[in-house]
Amino acid sequence: MFRKILIANRGEIALRVICACKELNIPTVAVYSEADRNSLHVRFADEAVCIGPPRSSESYLNIPSIISAAEVTNVDAIHPGYGYLAESAHFSEVCETCGIKFIGPSPDSMRLMGDKAAARRTMREAGLPIIPGTDVLQDKDPQLEAKAAAIGYPVLVKAVAGGGGRGMRIVRRPEDLQDALSTAQSEALGAFGSGAVYIEKYLENPRHIELQILADEHGGVVHLGERDCSIQRRHQKLVEESPSPAVSEGTRLELGEKVIQAIRRVNYYNVGTVEFLFDQQGNYFFIEMNTRVQVEHPVTEMVTGIDVVKEQIRVAAGEKLSVSQGQISFRGHSIECRINAESPITFIPSPGRITVFHPPGGPGIRVDSCAYADYVVSPHYDSLIAKLIAYGKDRREALARLNRALDMFAVEGIETTIPLHKKIINHPDFITGKFGTGFLDQLPAI
Ligand code: ADP
Repeated sequence: MFRKILIANRGEIALRVICACKELNIPTVAVYSEADRNSLHVRFADEAVCIGPPRSSESYLNIPSIISAAEVTNVDAIHPGYGYLAESAHFSEVCETCGIKFIGPSPDSMRLMGDKAAARRTMREAGLPIIPGTDVLQDKDPQLEAKAAAIGYPVLVKAVAGGGGRGMRIVRRPEDLQDALSTAQSEALGAFGSGAVYIEKYLENPRHIELQILADEHGGVVHLGERDCSIQRRHQKLVEESPSPAVSEGTRLELGEKVIQAIRRVNYYNVGTVEFLFDQQGNYFFIEMNTRVQVEHPVTEMVTGIDVVKEQIRVAAGEKLSVSQGQISFRGHSIECRINAESPITFIPSPGRITVFHPPGGPGIRVDSCAYADYVVSPHYDSLIAKLIAYGKDRREALARLNRALDMFAVEGIETTIPLHKKIINHPDFITGKFGTGFLDQLPAI
């Protein structure tokens, strides 16, 4: 097992990794920017190193600073969390060169899955259905219009390097195609450093359903069931649950088998998430794979009783998975709300000092958070301040607990998405489980 782990991240996920390390008895090193001096991850890690000014590009994305911190503190592994360097094949190679284990998949897997067009090709060959679409488009492709027409409008222009719901453009009419393509290409170049795009069929109001997998370096692969992440704003997840109200036992079994086979074929190890869209007829299509732990992993932990982060660390240390598929069972229901420091109406970030912070507790409630009373939400980073996770013996009980926990979650001094969550989870379509990714667009403003 590792001697000491450096966590190249901040916020709730840095704390989550510290929890796992403490339980595994592994000392931790936090890194922090000048803006995060008073953060809980700094307080609860065994050691902490300042890696630069508030801007992420100069701190949490600053590879030389992070590697220096790792060398000075003599760690033998780095956990990247999610975001920042978690999907950087380059960073993982630098770690390897320095003799430090990157807690993640091989650089090749990261490169492959980090390119959405390559991931589509690979997963189709590995047996997963994909959304009808093209490969990467060449500049001034003379076949462009014919290709889009063959897919059928509406189509979606997507950046191969896109992420976080960015780098997508819906095109409803052929005459808008060329413009959308040019804008998408230049936006993608600016945001992701690659202007490469492709086109796929745009599905109306699909469900976003993803499978959590765990895979070790000895050929062991299991799935931990699905999460339904259809409640989104601007293609970013806001509420996630497991199991999905739309997935039957039969579909779960079938999807699980297909995904395990595909993961084996691509020789993947680490935790991972294979994402699908389900159309309104229940057909499913692979969209992308995330090669890291995800924000919404707790709902899976609640229904399986498996600690995804501990399992990830064990696998990175070369151990075999501690569970086989036959030992995994799904019990009860779990729903997570992402509490963001944002206006619940406009989603404009609401940084500032939190004056009152009282997270709820009681039966079936888990809160993963980096906030406290007097904590200052910095404008430099992601607006996620807490994840509220409810568990119940069934969806009804999970919802009842979530409802009362939202009522008992007191945050003052900044705006949060709590009022929006109240509205979402009490909507008749949410209660009956009949919703797709367009749910929030159809919800009248609060
Ligand atoms: P990102 O990496 O930016 O998260 P994804 O490919 O995972 O991008 O897609 C994010 C979300 O965008 C999906 O959950 C879904 O809401 C929407 N989306 C992506 N592809 C399609 C599509 N072909 N049709 C309809 N919606 C889509």
